[in-house]
Amino acid sequence: MSCGHDDHSHPGLTGAALKRALGAAEVRCADTQERLTPPRRRVLELLLEADGPLKAYDLIAAFGEAGEPAKPPTVYRALEFLERLGFAHRIESLNAYVPCRMEGEGHQAAFLICDCCGAAQEFEPDLKPALTAARAAGYDARSVTLEARGFCPACKGG
Ligand SMILES: [Zn+2]
Ligand SMILES: [Zn+2]
Ligand SMILES: [Zn+2]
Repeated sequence: MSCGHDDHSHPGLTGAALKRALGAAEVRCADTQERLTPPRRRVLELLLEADGPLKAYDLIAAFGEAGEPAKPPTVYRALEFLERLGFAHRIESLNAYVPCRMEGEGHQAAFLICDCCGAAQEFEPDLKPALTAARAAGYDARSVTLEARGFCPACKGG
């Protein structure tokens, strides 16, 4: 990036940390009678390794270990699975995906997004006021999206 900030690296997982995260995902799948099939595992691996949110077409392009792209439905189905089990989240405003950094199936995720370096940090939102307001207005709201845009600690100073 060309903004001049020194610390723009948000390295993903590698080596033992990556193996551990994938192993933990396999255990969680087994606990819920689901299978971390090779395509699902591969997409999760790509998300964990990434240094920021990835778009579906990034995943499709990077899918093959030898550089060959995936068939798009393979990646979309894997993403659907990973989202359903809470291994990954879609960031609506970026239309991109990140691995979940907090354990827990099906939890609500909110994001702090840096407009400079693209970092996206997950946090646990308190959606009760929004859901209460929705109920008061007679809505049956199923989800609330909360994404804060601005500058991360590394970028806000400059
Ligand atoms: Zn999460
Ligand atoms: Zn930043
Ligand atoms: Zn920056």
